[in-house]
Amino acid sequence: MALAPFFGRIYSAVGKHVSATRDGLSKALSATRVGLICGDHLSRNSQMIAEMSINLAARLYPIIAITASEPQRVRLQEIARAINPKIEFCDESPGELTVAVGISGPPRSINVSASGWVAELRSVFQAEEGPVNPYAATAAAALAWSEVFRRVFLQRSADRDVSLSLLDFTESSGKNLPLSAASIGEVLFVGVGAVGNAAIWAMSRDEVTSGSLTLVDHETVSLSNLQRYTLAETSDVDEPKVVLAERILRSSHFSVKSIQSTLQGYVANGHQLPTTCISLDNVDGRRTGQALLPRLLVNGWTGDGSLGASWHAFDNGQACLACLYHPHGQGLSAVQQAAMAFGLKEERAVQLWLTRSPLSGEERRHAAKKLGVPPNALVAWKDRPLAELYTDVVCGAVPIDLPGVKNVEVVPLAHQSVLAGALMAAELLKRTQPALSDLAQKEPLISWDDVLQAPPKSWLRPRPRELGCICGDPVYQEVYRERWRNV
Ligand SMILES: [Zn+2]
Repeated sequence: MALAPFFGRIYSAVGKHVSATRDGLSKALSATRVGLICGDHLSRNSQMIAEMSINLAARLYPIIAITASEPQRVRLQEIARAINPKIEFCDESPGELTVAVGISGPPRSINVSASGWVAELRSVFQAEEGPVNPYAATAAAALAWSEVFRRVFLQRSADRDVSLSLLDFTESSGKNLPLSAASIGEVLFVGVGAVGNAAIWAMSRDEVTSGSLTLVDHETVSLSNLQRYTLAETSDVDEPKVVLAERILRSSHFSVKSIQSTLQGYVANGHQLPTTCISLDNVDGRRTGQALLPRLLVNGWTGDGSLGASWHAFDNGQACLACLYHPHGQGLSAVQQAAMAFGLKEERAVQLWLTRSPLSGEERRHAAKKLGVPPNALVAWKDRPLAELYTDVVCGAVPIDLPGVKNVEVVPLAHQSVLAGALMAAELLKRTQPALSDLAQKEPLISWDDVLQAPPKSWLRPRPRELGCICGDPVYQEVYRERWRNV
């Protein structure tokens, strides 16, 4: 079997969207042939699209057809094998499941390209040789493989070409605009998870932008992370995430300092940097990130079938990051999600979570019923804390068929995290370079609300401040103004 060793995690991500059992998904993937076709002399943008394409494909599909010149094919196969050592390669894939880069693909294939800030998917190939832009190239690959996903699992294909400018979210702005040799300044980069991985993948290929990054994340890479961490290969398991990211960025123009710590741990010892770029998987961290009052805050996120990025200046009258994660805003805390998943009252879930206690026998059976599994399916967790049960079962660290999984937030799809990371990195460049921010959208939030549907026609989400948020507090505003007055 060519299925990836982290198939359990793939099931957690895909199972929800396609209502498949583990066995059903495993059979479906083993019967699927997807393909990547590359022209002989790829532009830099097309080369990046090809590399991110195989990177994404290898994290989900066990059998892939690569059509390319010999050295290119060998190189792409190496990338795929480093992710899934058991992957198989075949000679052909159906046209509609084939992504073509730098060459006209077969009928019904997805022709993908990037030029300047614009990512494009077309039904008919057009030669593009615009300015190099790794952010648009990364986004183009993610868009292409989201289309393949919908064709494979939902038998649904977009009825139109897609053209998306990461500069202002129109169709064509910045198509001929090269990146400039400017600096993004000093950036605290918090969270090297799936979204952070994709941002760093793109930034490591940026040959002109410079700046100083302080990477903060306390975790190490686990095998299940390979389902959507585009920097991680099998050999990286157990390496600290910040160390992996620093290694990838070594040959870029960014200077990097890596700190294996939580944000809270860093804050206790580190000094305040003007810009924070944050992609943590929890609400508390994001709210903390805003409460620290950086001059600029850039955020990337994936939610239940959604993804996006946002930027926040705190004193411009628009929503701050804490507004977006205000109670009843988007996103739930892990405790709230656990309560929902297992059918617990929220107070009870908080109590169990904080005291590191297990569910009672009755709660465990009730939770099993809520998840749609047999009453004794969760017995292995009878002495383990709620937080562990949640991580193992709901977040998919432990393989278990979950017919009731629709009730809970599940693991994002790889292309979903990659697009969020590309959007976040693009905002980071745009908001730290005045020449770009003048051209960029004014809205603080960009979002694709349902990745099972074709990309939206409008990505912009005007977002007013939340009543009762810290951004409406005169004391916070005064501290912010004082701190950045002379910068
Ligand atoms: Zn706010």
